Amino acid sequence: MQALTWHGEKDIRVSEVPKPEIVEPTDVIVEITATAICGSDLHLYNDKMPGMREGDVLGHEPMGEVVEVGDEVESLEVGDRVVVPFTISCGSCWFCEEELYSLCDNSNPNAEMARKMMGQSPAGLFGFSHLLGGYAGGQAEYLRVPYADVGPIEIESDIPDEQVLFLSDVFPTGYMAAENADIEDEDTVAVWGCGPVGQFAIQSAQMMGANQVVAIDRVPERLEMASEHGDAETINYEHADVYDQLMSMTGGRGPDRCIDAVGTEAHGTGLDGVSDRVKEGAKLQDDRPYVLREAIKCCRKGGTLSVPGVYLGRANVPFGPLMNKALTVKTGQTHMQRYLDPLLGTIEEGEIDPSFIISHRVGLEDGPEMYRTFNDKADDCIKVVMEP
Ligand SMILES: [Zn+2]
Ligand SMILES: [Zn+2]
Repeated sequence: MQALTWHGEKDIRVSEVPKPEIVEPTDVIVEITATAICGSDLHLYNDKMPGMREGDVLGHEPMGEVVEVGDEVESLEVGDRVVVPFTISCGSCWFCEEELYSLCDNSNPNAEMARKMMGQSPAGLFGFSHLLGGYAGGQAEYLRVPYADVGPIEIESDIPDEQVLFLSDVFPTGYMAAENADIEDEDTVAVWGCGPVGQFAIQSAQMMGANQVVAIDRVPERLEMASEHGDAETINYEHADVYDQLMSMTGGRGPDRCIDAVGTEAHGTGLDGVSDRVKEGAKLQDDRPYVLREAIKCCRKGGTLSVPGVYLGRANVPFGPLMNKALTVKTGQTHMQRYLDPLLGTIEEGEIDPSFIISHRVGLEDGPEMYRTFNDKADDCIKVVMEP
């Protein structure tokens, strides 16, 4: 079958790879009908993620049709249409029972590698390095889905793929980011990063009753989208000082809730931004936490900082200001299974149509080109959907 495979920095190829087979009796095989490129895939593209190996199949935002079912799978049959969440969870460990699905204790076969780096291993993820399980991803014609009774959500209506596809990651991830921000009525919520996760965090913040949402980015089309679809005020950080703007929008108090939907590869400005790049180049830090620092600086005292943006290793973060301003920080990969059913409900009831973020619809063979376009933020690219 055809798949998009990783071969080092900025080297993604369309390759012929073996079709996946059932390995465990709890697996299903899904024939992919739609699959997206995620902002976090760009960390792999830019070779920032440890544990990638030549030939790894990429992708963690797929959906399709079940074509093969393991003997012990109870909830799915051949022919079922499913969206597959990006986290892999066993459903029966202590963490899964606590609904902390992205922290599953059983789904990362390379847990030892992750434990050495982090103390404990989070869940395995599709197409996201051997550090997180070495699972083949969904930018392919077929995908093996482990723990099939726990992960995929069946779509029983005939709602189009592109309206439900983003249940695989970015819609629940944006939603959990807003939930983690503990939004209350009358709150001002500032969201750094207007990619797909930022857009869904903005919309979710509105659904949760925020008084004012402020979107921060440098790409005009993305800011426009945040304003048009998310009813957000906008700050283009290339044209205005973010701290000054946020202070003047909040009477000098600062936003109550801050969401970092950018993560490790922030494009900082000024000396601080340059310093991040130098430290990263000299291997003194693994991340460029420009946004994290700015959010800590801007957030009102006693406010909340929610971090859906992906970070990878050591980063220079000002813990003193965080402590002295009594900020609460919440973060983590999304506990997908908590959100699949309720968010599918909001789509089916017409409360939200997530397809507004799609900018490019292509075939799998255009994948390598699309990675380039997306990484360069060229051609107004915000979300690429491929039909294998
Ligand atoms: Zn993703
Ligand atoms: Zn588990």
